[in-house]
Amino acid sequence: MPPTTESEEHKALRSAVAALGKRHGRNYDREALWTEAAKLGYLGVNLPEQYGGGGGGIAELSIVLEELGAAGCPLLMMVVSPAICGTVIARFGTEAQKQHWLPALADGTRTMAFGITEPDAGSNSHRITTTARKDGTDWLLTGRKVFISGVDTADVTLIVGRTEDARTGRLKPCLFIVPRDAEGFTRRQIDMELQAVEKQFELTLDDVRLPADALVGDEDAGLLQLFAGLNPERIMTAAFAIGMGRYALAQAITYARDRTVWNTPIGAHQAIAHPLAQAHIDLELARLMMQKAAYLYDEGDDEGAGEAANMAKYAAGEACVRAVDQAVHTLGGNGLTREFGLASLITAARVSRIAPVSREMILNYVSHQTLGLPKSY
Ligand SMILES: Cc1cc2nc3c(=O)[nH]c(=O)nc-3n(C[C@H](O)[C@H](O)[C@H](O)COP(=O)(O)OP(=O)(O)OC[C@H]3O[C@@H](n4cnc5c(N)ncnc54)[C@H](O)[C@@H]3O)c2cc1C
Repeated sequence: MPPTTESEEHKALRSAVAALGKRHGRNYDREALWTEAAKLGYLGVNLPEQYGGGGGGIAELSIVLEELGAAGCPLLMMVVSPAICGTVIARFGTEAQKQHWLPALADGTRTMAFGITEPDAGSNSHRITTTARKDGTDWLLTGRKVFISGVDTADVTLIVGRTEDARTGRLKPCLFIVPRDAEGFTRRQIDMELQAVEKQFELTLDDVRLPADALVGDEDAGLLQLFAGLNPERIMTAAFAIGMGRYALAQAITYARDRTVWNTPIGAHQAIAHPLAQAHIDLELARLMMQKAAYLYDEGDDEGAGEAANMAKYAAGEACVRAVDQAVHTLGGNGLTREFGLASLITAARVSRIAPVSREMILNYVSHQTLGLPKSY
């Protein structure tokens, strides 16, 4: 059973990270925060102790991201580098890959991006066509990716492809570590409306030559090793969304306590107070589901975690979008000024509704897997 209240260790971690977040604040320098969080052991808190990590799980890592987000300084690459890539390497990498990558991911000296989305596949990852061809002991990787975050700052990108023999049919994914400056690996920054320190890229892989040990895990292992990384990604996206929602809500509450245009602060009007209370309840509920998902995942229940991680990501994305919307509204005109900085969160909040798996694809999953309803596609 997942604990119904947070342990003392988790509370202590939460308040220590909150203090770090407060020191950096909304105008944070991503690199400085990344370095300090790593030094304090927060970035590798989920990675095995024998490889320099904290020996905890996604429960702890999600606390770190949520608290940084609630302080206005989320580190998006935490969703990718320690959560997806670190987990996949820790669970399926060779001993040499673990020794090479995990200590560096934990101490923040190296970062990994993650690329699965393709322009012609989108939500349907069974349609991805990035293909790996054997050439002697090397691999040659060819394909295209889109919306991949942080490729400019990451040392390498973990690219999801498929082998030539498994080019069609159900996806049998293979994961390859591709160095940022590999020959034939090019990137173009996508002009996003999003105001975030991490940028998104379209990637082209044109016969990128990789050594045999660039492959993480087994080429025949199928979906299991990919989902080992995708469940943490969903849980961490939930943490990202809850953090952002809490940040926006806190700004709105402060404002609603002070701003007076009649006889009482606007927060005394139930039309302002109740939606803020509702937003708080929605965020708390989303966190409960996130904690359940993290608990199941850390206990090794991949299947149970899959359903809970989807539901947590859904609930957190929706709660975040509503909290941000209500926060902006609470500030009236100031909700749209740069000075208060909330309007840009309207775009940012939508990310957690779309990525890494959209609201509709989660509803599809629950309709089919949980409720047993037939598929329309
Ligand atoms: C800021 C940002 C960062 C990202 N970072 C990364 C990253 O680091 N790595 C990475 O690999 N990807 C990344 N992504 C990509 C993200 O995971 C995809 O955008 C997402 O999976 C949706 O794919 P798509 O954009 O192609 O939308 P589409 O698949 O084209 O979907 C468009 C719309 O159609 C709906 N739809 C599609 N199929 C169905 C269906 N069967 N039933 C009902 N509705 C359906 C969707 O819900 C959505 O609303 C990022 C995206 C963003 C916006």
